[in-house]
Amino acid sequence: MGQITLSNVKKSFGNIDVLHGINLDINDGELVVFVGPSGCGKSTLLRAIAGLEKITSGEIAIDGKPVNDVTAADRGLAMVFQSYALYPHMSVRQNLAFGLENSKMPKAEIDERITEAARMLEIEPYLARRPGQLSGGQRQRVAIGRAIVRRPVAFLLDEPLSNLDAELRVSTRAELAALHARLSSTMIYVTHDQVEAMTLADRIVVLRAGKIEQVGTPLELYNTPANRFVAGFIGAPH
Ligand code: ADP
Ligand code: MG
Repeated sequence: MGQITLSNVKKSFGNIDVLHGINLDINDGELVVFVGPSGCGKSTLLRAIAGLEKITSGEIAIDGKPVNDVTAADRGLAMVFQSYALYPHMSVRQNLAFGLENSKMPKAEIDERITEAARMLEIEPYLARRPGQLSGGQRQRVAIGRAIVRRPVAFLLDEPLSNLDAELRVSTRAELAALHARLSSTMIYVTHDQVEAMTLADRIVVLRAGKIEQVGTPLELYNTPANRFVAGFIGAPH
């Protein structure tokens, strides 16, 4: 569960080519970080995997099954955005329950999942509050909680910490790493921050202008960058 294969994935918006043929194998349970400068196509690639963006050509497969024609809701993935995207008029509990109620899950099961996620993320005291009554860090936990309760085969996180201040970003990053260890589910984590990439990733995928420059462990990229771009981006001397 949670193995994702990208084969020659291309995406154009009109006559602008954004992804130029991405090939990548993501293993079950792996934490893969997509890193690269703003505009290089990280979000587009993540949204394509999520099923929120239709690809122009190529194939995306989850656990060996092609999903090009499978809707976002049926891919079994959960996405976390930097903007949280919480419903402001609903309580935290209602925000967590929302997607599950739509799937007609029994109430007892929904409550159990919410309790478990809330405990894991230490947001139990805030379940009755509305998002507007929470800090940025608490809101981001709720957004992550909303993904956890769905028990997805993979988590897709698009710059989830970029709205937090520097200190909170460091602590939340550590919590995400702990969460990944605990859930042992596949995570794809998008960032333009090389420190985040180096500290979180099992493997880093360096993107530049819609192409993969290099894939490797943080140590591999640091020690043997494929080119000056990777070296410059990862911060090794060059
Ligand atoms: P990143 O997340 O790495 O900053 P994006 O995936 O958001 O990059 O964008 C990659 C490129 O695709 C950018 O040039 C952006 O302007 C373009 N792009 C993204 N979404 C659209 C869209 N819906 N329509 C047209 N161009 C888009
Ligand atoms: Mg982006």
